[in-house]
Amino acid sequence: MSESALDLMDPKQLRGRSAVVTGSTSGIGLAVAEGLAAAGCNVALSGFGDAAEIEATRQRLAALGVRVTWSPADLSQGEQVRGYVEQAIADFGAVDILVNNAGIQFVAAVEDFPDDKWEKIVALNLSAAFYATKAALPGMKARDWGRIVNIASAHGLTASPFKSAYVSAKHGILGLTKTVALECAEANITCNAICPGYVNTPLVAGQIKDQAKVHNMSEADVVRNVILASQPNKRFAETAEIAAMTLFLCSDAGRSITGVPLSMDGGWTAR
Ligand code: NAD
Repeated sequence: MSESALDLMDPKQLRGRSAVVTGSTSGIGLAVAEGLAAAGCNVALSGFGDAAEIEATRQRLAALGVRVTWSPADLSQGEQVRGYVEQAIADFGAVDILVNNAGIQFVAAVEDFPDDKWEKIVALNLSAAFYATKAALPGMKARDWGRIVNIASAHGLTASPFKSAYVSAKHGILGLTKTVALECAEANITCNAICPGYVNTPLVAGQIKDQAKVHNMSEADVVRNVILASQPNKRFAETAEIAAMTLFLCSDAGRSITGVPLSMDGGWTAR
């Protein structure tokens, strides 16, 4: 009997899997961690923030009936990335799903771009995904199953001025995505990149307020004419949309999708 489409998409099939989600104390990473925990996956959180808030998040997710840990690792340091993934393997017995999400931004013209900001952005937005993938792959290969989802950006496919480090790192992660996909294709391990346009996160909410002051515009005008100027659908994606795509890629429905950048940008890169 052939498989049914709904069975292939059923997130319940992920029950009992274990996931590492980098940068999961806020925004997209937190939504992805929530989605995976709700589907029955153990989750190793990481990222910075208020200790009490992080512990409350950890407990809220654990209340879904899964094991949830948090690592304080600074993921711009390769050794700490390795330690975080190895600890998750020790805690859960396996890492089946790796979501490379942690990322930061800095905006300046190339000639004014501080060297340390360049190094930090490349380290966190690109090299951390390499170190985490390197640490997670041997176990995935041994179990003949794995899912790697890299949260890239529309800026992995196209550039904007003043974002040289971010655009370079995001273009780089698409190269890593394709290479890992090819190396693992026969081991039931997929590796894909999600490329969102603007997503409704606390980071973006802050930018709207700041830009409204700078441009002396209403927040609605800033959203439409400044922040979403390049995004044809003129609305932010919600973090749950990115989490839903991640779950889809992790499901059997996504098992033949590998090595691709999946745009979730309201048409931005269709231009
Ligand atoms: P966010 O600032 O809300 O979350 C970033 C997470 O990374 C946080 O948990 C933070 O604590 C963590 N982090 C930052 N520096 C770290 C470090 N050195 N070590 C460990 N953790 C660290 O950001 P977000 O908007 O949710 O973005 C998440 C990812 O999605 C990033 O890679 C970003 O480039 C990408 N993205 C975001 C948007 C958007 O519009 N928000 C659009 C496209 C792509």
